[in-house]
Amino acid sequence: MKVLIRSDFYLLLEALRRNNYKTIGPTIKDGAIVYDKINSSEDLPIGWTDKQDAGKYRLEKRNDDALFGYVVGPQSWKKFLNPPIQKLWHAAKTENKFDIIPEKPDDTKFAFIGVRSCELNAIFIQDKVFTSGEYVNQNYKLRRDNAFIVAVNCVESGGTCFCVSMNTGPKAEKGFDISLTEIVKDGHHNFLIESGSEKGEKILSEIPHRTAIQNEINFGNELISNAAATMGRVLDTSNIRNLLLNNLDHPQWDKVAERCLSCANCTMVCPTCFCTTVEDTTDLTGEHAERWQKWDSCFTIDFSYIHGGSIRNSVKSRYRQWMTHKLATWHDQFGTSGCVGCGRCITWCPVEIDITAEVRAIKESSK
Ligand code: SF4
Ligand code: SF4
Repeated sequence: MKVLIRSDFYLLLEALRRNNYKTIGPTIKDGAIVYDKINSSEDLPIGWTDKQDAGKYRLEKRNDDALFGYVVGPQSWKKFLNPPIQKLWHAAKTENKFDIIPEKPDDTKFAFIGVRSCELNAIFIQDKVFTSGEYVNQNYKLRRDNAFIVAVNCVESGGTCFCVSMNTGPKAEKGFDISLTEIVKDGHHNFLIESGSEKGEKILSEIPHRTAIQNEINFGNELISNAAATMGRVLDTSNIRNLLLNNLDHPQWDKVAERCLSCANCTMVCPTCFCTTVEDTTDLTGEHAERWQKWDSCFTIDFSYIHGGSIRNSVKSRYRQWMTHKLATWHDQFGTSGCVGCGRCITWCPVEIDITAEVRAIKESSK
């Protein structure tokens, strides 16, 4: 374990840029922490934290200058790995046929700065969806292969976090190139830093650092343990697949449907939701056509429209589909849960629907 001092943090960003990475990280926009291009450490949310609860999100000033003193914002890294809107191909009419020209895959080398452990686990889940099996999403794969991940271990938990229940945090255990633990204490501001890959080792060798002393390592571990002990939410996952699938007619689905607006916020903010639709457009001359891929959601009526009608017409059926897929049938499909406990769907639900409370309600009243 090594130590990077705060005043040298900018050198990490510089080293990444020297190695042709586009540095993306947390920054403040419209009253929220969002992921965007980072040109210097001054772009990070220095001295800000986020307060979260069901349907509530506020930024507040901290009493220190931590760079990563918040939890997670409304966006996740899927915004870059599987963008919300992308052109798949365009077609041009020639004399007696159409030529279809696929879009070139985006070979940008992203360096993601500040990836939380739950988010890293969400990326592993999307890796399974997009790159395992017979059909590989080449756009996703190229971006993912090119990406450099700077994970940041959580030393504080948020009001809607439950990564401990999902076994996905708060410490990043694998899959990062560099991991950081931020320590602000007694007038000192340092990062415990370690590499997790050859790419990470190379970057680490290009920036000043020293070996950590045992007290520093112990203190970093204490902070992470404290975050684990103060999770905002708990989800009892024991036998959860069978619990949900054996209760598809439970009255709780009607209760939640009375409140749910079917707005799809929960799916847009979720770092593992991956559904998309395609839209085709043509110009007025009929000589140019395009196909675009856009994020879609199981909360829309159109999502389940096939041959003359939608399969899931009611809000009840759509909410049940989303939650049972996340927590039950995802296991059958991909061998893991579809939820990493980031809490975003709870924070950003306008009517405060809480996935942990919904599971609890079914559990407490099922036979
Ligand atoms: S659960 Fe909440 S966020 Fe999700 S669709 Fe319903 S109202 Fe919208
Ligand atoms: S279902 Fe909710 S808590 Fe779970 S990963 Fe998605 S947004 Fe996060």
